[in-house]
Amino acid sequence: MKRLHRKTKIIATIGPASNSGEMISRLLTSGVNVFRLNFSHGNCEMHGQVLKLIREKSQELGVEVAVLADLQGPKIRTGKTPDNNPIYLETGSKITMVSDINQECSASVISIDYPGLAKEIASGQLVLINDGAVSLRVDTIDSSDTIYCTVLSGGAYSSRKGVNFPDVDLSIPSMTQKDLSDLEFILKNDFQYVALSFVRKADDVLKLKEIINESRTDIEVIAKIEKPEAARRIDDILKVADGIMVARGDLGVEVNIALVPIIQKQLIEKANKAGKIVIVATQMLESMIKSPIPTRAETTDVANAVIDGADAIMLSGETAAGLYPVAAVETMRSIACNAECSNYIEYGKNAYASNIQFPPFAICEAARWASQNLGNIPVCVYSLTGATAEYLSKVRVVAPIFVFTPNYQVIRQLSLQWNVTALFMEFYTDVSELHKDAEDILIKKKYINHGDLIAHICGTTPNAGATNSLRIKKVGEN
Ligand code: PEP
Repeated sequence: MKRLHRKTKIIATIGPASNSGEMISRLLTSGVNVFRLNFSHGNCEMHGQVLKLIREKSQELGVEVAVLADLQGPKIRTGKTPDNNPIYLETGSKITMVSDINQECSASVISIDYPGLAKEIASGQLVLINDGAVSLRVDTIDSSDTIYCTVLSGGAYSSRKGVNFPDVDLSIPSMTQKDLSDLEFILKNDFQYVALSFVRKADDVLKLKEIINESRTDIEVIAKIEKPEAARRIDDILKVADGIMVARGDLGVEVNIALVPIIQKQLIEKANKAGKIVIVATQMLESMIKSPIPTRAETTDVANAVIDGADAIMLSGETAAGLYPVAAVETMRSIACNAECSNYIEYGKNAYASNIQFPPFAICEAARWASQNLGNIPVCVYSLTGATAEYLSKVRVVAPIFVFTPNYQVIRQLSLQWNVTALFMEFYTDVSELHKDAEDILIKKKYINHGDLIAHICGTTPNAGATNSLRIKKVGEN
């Protein structure tokens, strides 16, 4: 099956609407590049079954995909409401908040699952419940750690709803016991990315990386930016994470929702300049959960994320729990392709400009220059670790980037990388043979034709970091 040439990658979240073999096949055929398994829902056994199905179906169709495990992170939640029914809180009413999760919630008491809250929160600070559907202001805190609040904006909440404290830099650990045990499962299985929720500082990412690196070095970390302190500390976070996700769901609760578009643009620009992956997520085609066509505003949102420079765009409820998962992917693909063909993208504007004194980077820059000045000719790269391919992507080589590697983990990982098509090939020392075989593969897949100009970059030895040569030739010529 030949993929449409689309540069921006599509991530689909798997859930009850899409966890069957048939639906996974249809999503793959529609153009999904990365599946996201959300560890806030389900359990490891269920995720393991889905992962197995993804690999089976991807092998059947001959399409490699990355799988991203999204850790729940330290999300604070309400306790249980009677029979899990919603409770309505009136604007102006008084309510107390307690850290005893065993206490049942009511219209006058909300229990939450964070024991230390009373020591960290102060009078006047804001509490948001159920994605901001209810907001409270803290009035006083007594010596028994009961927090007395006034309902600023009334609404409904029920059992296990998220609670956000936008004014407080909580000392809660960056990973819960559940995250650590999910991580143990993830590290034993065939995942390419782990996303960390509610990142607050670079150290949160470093802690996760430390654990990952104890057992393997081939899983990359995506920091979810959904807290104001993470947005403020983005430069430090970008130094240590492999990529970021603009997680607009929680971000829109934690900061004034009117600021989300600007923060999104800033995060995309900074990630691109830092040479790191950036994913735009949440509510991109939200109305497609129930409707076969999106709103005009949603199509514009997807196109703008592509034009602003997102590497990947993500579907959440649309594919996890919606009525039209395949239509949502097809719609997203079509919007992305149209945006990419428009005159509105300035590909070089925020591109990564690294230290080109490192020879492989100098070769990549030369390949980008040559590709562009020879009419956007495709660039082939031979990469053991995927690092050279990532670099070509982040300097925004606009013509197709074809990566050949003997490592399936690298092929799958590169599914998330903007404008990269990764293919399997054994490496051998005769470089001309390598080029010839790569061209044969690309001709067979109808990506290129005999006589086309093409650029090959590789190393004269098949080692990581050895890229030292650029060759421009006609396809099929020796
Ligand atoms: C978000 O909040 O936008 C997000 C992607 O995280 P989650 O879906 O885990 O809430």
